[in-house]
Amino acid sequence: MSRRQVNGYRDDSPEAPVYDDAHRAFLQAFFSNSVFTSDTLKPVVAAILSAQDPERPRLEGDITEPIITSLIQNTNAKISHFDFEILSAREQMKGDRTYALVNTASDTFTQLATSFTPDEIAYIKRLLDAMFEENNSRTREIMAVKQMRAKQLAKAPPRNRQSQAATQVDANEEPTQVESNVKSISHGDCDRVLQTLVTQGFFQESPSHYYSLAPRGLLELRNYLKETYNEPPAEDDDEENEPTIRIRDCEGCQEIVTIGLRCDNRDCGVRWHTRCANQFFGGRQGNGKRCPKCKADWTGSSYVGEKADRVQPRRSTAGRASRAQEDEEEDENE
Ligand SMILES: [Zn+2]
Ligand SMILES: [Zn+2]
Repeated sequence: MSRRQVNGYRDDSPEAPVYDDAHRAFLQAFFSNSVFTSDTLKPVVAAILSAQDPERPRLEGDITEPIITSLIQNTNAKISHFDFEILSAREQMKGDRTYALVNTASDTFTQLATSFTPDEIAYIKRLLDAMFEENNSRTREIMAVKQMRAKQLAKAPPRNRQSQAATQVDANEEPTQVESNVKSISHGDCDRVLQTLVTQGFFQESPSHYYSLAPRGLLELRNYLKETYNEPPAEDDDEENEPTIRIRDCEGCQEIVTIGLRCDNRDCGVRWHTRCANQFFGGRQGNGKRCPKCKADWTGSSYVGEKADRVQPRRSTAGRASRAQEDEEEDENE
């Protein structure tokens, strides 16, 4: 088999995926540093390509997104047999790309076991429950948790309030060992877990001290979030029992939205990242803007993310109650 070069930096036309020293070095870079942004990845790629072909040295500025995409595709073609993949996600507000080497077979929490104790992992699940159940009601899709609440959650709840994930999976069984043995973690451990999650790029902390999922968290937890917080479509076509969908993808880029905009119509599932909505509605004049699905007027003033916690929600006919709605009564009594 002839040796071909990476599609995009040689003039040769691309054929079957190549996997050469450049790809090996590229993968090695992800083994030693599991997350990159475009800014941190470009110099690495420039160095790899320059080393491979010293007669054509590359600078950081020569590395385009298609070059990176090509390297990723060819590397993934090789490593996907081992259930690994390099995936990328955009930071939801600024749009910068984050790249991470992800184990697609084992669940993220098994991987987190190398950094955290079982009680700490149970705490991380409580944080996710707070983001995606407690703070994610029909009227307010905050999808973030305030620092104060995050610290309260260090205390393990009574058995019957354990993670929905566990109760769903084991609906017909006794609570599992792990579940019933979950213990509170100390304030010191709680601070360290939060700090580690931020440092490792799973969580981000906003200036107003809300924790939300950072790009790596979104990448690695994408499947977990949908499996845990979205109900599967009903098997019989009983239209009255619409499944509860708490995690939705952007109408533009198809990636999960935890910070962005929602359709003003509470019954409509349309969500956008602000950037993606601006791209879509950008060319349209003020009152010509309509939701592409339900055709409601698009005002761009219904938020997803911590902004939804600050903006007075509109009048609505909220039906389904979430666990947190006892605390949110005032929203319904406008
Ligand atoms: Zn988007
Ligand atoms: Zn709509």
